[in-house]
Amino acid sequence: MALFQKEKTDMMHSGTATLTLSFKGSSDASNFTASASVKATALDGVLQPVTRQIAQGGTAIVNPAIVRLGGRARYTIDVLPSSIPDSEIEWSVAEGVGNIVFNGGASNNKGRSVVVRGNAEGSFKLQVDKIAGQVPSPKPYIYGQVEPEAANPIHFYVLCDALGHPCVSTNWIDNCVSNANHNGRQLAMTFTRGSINYIRNHPEWLVIPTNSVETVRLCSYTNNVGGIKVYCIQSFEPSDALGATLNLLPFDEANGIILASNAKPVTLFHEILHACNLEDLYLTLIGNVPVSKEILGPLNWSGGDGTGYYPSDLTHRALIRRLMMYGHQNDNEADVPLEDLNEPRVMVSGKLEAIRVSRKSMETRTPRH
Ligand SMILES: [Zn+2]
Repeated sequence: MALFQKEKTDMMHSGTATLTLSFKGSSDASNFTASASVKATALDGVLQPVTRQIAQGGTAIVNPAIVRLGGRARYTIDVLPSSIPDSEIEWSVAEGVGNIVFNGGASNNKGRSVVVRGNAEGSFKLQVDKIAGQVPSPKPYIYGQVEPEAANPIHFYVLCDALGHPCVSTNWIDNCVSNANHNGRQLAMTFTRGSINYIRNHPEWLVIPTNSVETVRLCSYTNNVGGIKVYCIQSFEPSDALGATLNLLPFDEANGIILASNAKPVTLFHEILHACNLEDLYLTLIGNVPVSKEILGPLNWSGGDGTGYYPSDLTHRALIRRLMMYGHQNDNEADVPLEDLNEPRVMVSGKLEAIRVSRKSMETRTPRH
């Protein structure tokens, strides 16, 4: 009679499972024993097109929607178990071959993270072909576009109090510009401080309400500046808004951005995206449902059903907080996806409608006021 023993070890969501079969003879065969084990490795991959993850040791958000023509960008997949070496994770350009190339040569296509270079304008699909000798099914992928650099000079107009003291410092302005460059990389947008001008004869504009006749007057103070126009005020009252953007008809002289002195550095880039035609997205619309391809759109997806290659516990509500156009934007870095998210609008019961938060809905990357 043979005894069978089944043993399971390390059975996790990802990791190695070992199945051991053994038997031991009895009576005349009591000296006869044998065992065999089969090892299988369960792989787990997370590839997130919508993320605000910064690469280790890096400064830019990974998995950007846009790669600058001639520039570099990093794409990252998290693969477990960690015992799988980087050399066994292979990427390829599945669509738009030639638009991006692996930086440093075609053999630099391996690892949990790869760096690509924008080689020609156009869209591309980057995918992971092999993990530890296995072909993942479906293959994780990410979409992007190569676009030329969009350079934006910003001209600042700083309100001064009755004594002539400016409400923000040059250092404060430079921090805002620096953050706009940090976040702008994902759209190949760059920013420079074009000029700082002081408005000393309008102390009544130091504190103004949002969406008022004063905001229109302030934003019309000067025009055709050859770049982005930013007015720095002390605060908005009675609201606690940090920034406001007037984006009326093209070439309307009142187009421009107002920043309050208590704005976060990231507020500037958020407002610039409003000037490019994007809108705010709030948490209230969709509840605690898992992320899905239907809501995120195919270009923001990375393969598979359900939550696909996003974390299996990621809710749509949590994902919205990653967006630069999230209405209560507060973090230092945030994502601009490739295509709009489909959300039910408050006034349109149950109907999914695209909310303009993505590269695809930007009318320009160089707003000029
Ligand atoms: Zn906003």
